[in-house]
Amino acid sequence: MKAETAILGGLVVSSAGVLPATVVISGGRIVALSDPAERWPAEEVLDARGRIVLPGGLDPHVHFNEPGRTHWEGFETGSAAAAAGGVTTVIEMPLNAIPPTTDASAFALKLEAIGPRAFVDYALWGGLVTDNVDRLEGLERSGAVAYKAFMIATGTEYARADDGVLWEGMERIAGWNGLVGVHAENNDLAMRLQARLQRAGRRDMRAWGEARPPEVELEAIQRVLRMARATGCRLHIVHLSTPEGGALIAAARQRGQRVSVETCPHYLLLDEEAFARLGPVAKCAPPLRPRPAVEGLWRQVADGTIDCLSSDHSPCPPEDKARGVDDVWQAWGGISGVQTALPLMFSEGVRRRGLPLERLAALTSTNAAKIFGLYPRKGSLIPGADADVVILDPEREWTITAEWLRSRHRLSPFLGWRVTGWIERVLVRGRTVVRDGDLVGDPGYGTLLRRGPAAKGPHGSAMR
Ligand SMILES: [Zn+2]
Repeated sequence: MKAETAILGGLVVSSAGVLPATVVISGGRIVALSDPAERWPAEEVLDARGRIVLPGGLDPHVHFNEPGRTHWEGFETGSAAAAAGGVTTVIEMPLNAIPPTTDASAFALKLEAIGPRAFVDYALWGGLVTDNVDRLEGLERSGAVAYKAFMIATGTEYARADDGVLWEGMERIAGWNGLVGVHAENNDLAMRLQARLQRAGRRDMRAWGEARPPEVELEAIQRVLRMARATGCRLHIVHLSTPEGGALIAAARQRGQRVSVETCPHYLLLDEEAFARLGPVAKCAPPLRPRPAVEGLWRQVADGTIDCLSSDHSPCPPEDKARGVDDVWQAWGGISGVQTALPLMFSEGVRRRGLPLERLAALTSTNAAKIFGLYPRKGSLIPGADADVVILDPEREWTITAEWLRSRHRLSPFLGWRVTGWIERVLVRGRTVVRDGDLVGDPGYGTLLRRGPAAKGPHGSAMR
């Protein structure tokens, strides 16, 4: 049999470890990882000598704001940025789209809008908000892979879920062994602290962190852990910013709870000093933390306490950042990061800190695929899986520039960073979408993914 594509000579990172192998692709899927000495006739041969071959990134937390706020991003530019950054699957959030994705009709509207625009594959979050508990089942039937709830006000039309709503939503979602993802910050505490700082005339960047100290996150994590345990619902904590929160989650797991957690590159690479220096472009919630917290998160990324990385890519027009320069409360809180996540984690994690390549693949692809029910189709370079592949040149040094970014608004707190490791080629289902760093895919090629049967581990899927 003649294969469509053979990737020769690379160091392949798979669940079997890191080994030289030929990746053989046919029909958009991986058909074999073969001994490099073996010859595979193929229509297209890709020379990956001296390169690292990784499973395509799976970013479980992006905001592309389609439909309704496409002047902020939109699926075409957002998924182009994903592809260029080695992310071959995104799971897109229900908020900042108008209407928010909180029922079956909004889900259908979103799918229609995305259809002709996606460069990479995608799954969709549904929302759990104040008034949609009775419509969650419709979202499930539509194909939502998880449900997002905010314990704190979002500042947009997306309603916060109070404790009663969270409880009822979790009861419902547990009924189909679904997953609730929570933005865990204590609303009352943060709003009170914010009002007090505002009364005192504070508008500087540091005030943002003072309004949302670690306790704001920790109390919310503790509370939602209890509610998820009581209702029997699988729980995913999004964008963890404090290692103490990771410890709470680890302790809950030890008691048998099904809970997973992600953090973002910005919590690992930036700290509160960087925020004070960079200004609104680095405003996010929870806020960037002091240096010891950052180091604590790195330990949890390395030791497996943290399951996966997400970008929480949440862009906005430049003016929505600019108005916060002299008044932090006025700036949009969100960081653009879908394109920079994988290169930065390779450079800062693998190269600088010695993070093993297997761990990088688990963090950027495999574990999220398992948590969100997309494994083994996505998340690993194994026979039978979709041929979503990143070919990375581990030695090439380059600088992150605005010109390289593909988002609608080329904002990033990482502009000017020197990076070792260049994303040379990206394949989605066997087709090259990025070549020599250039986008060559087509909008509309990306397809909707639905949740399959739960896979084993890491934390949450098929555990007790
Ligand atoms: Zn988010």
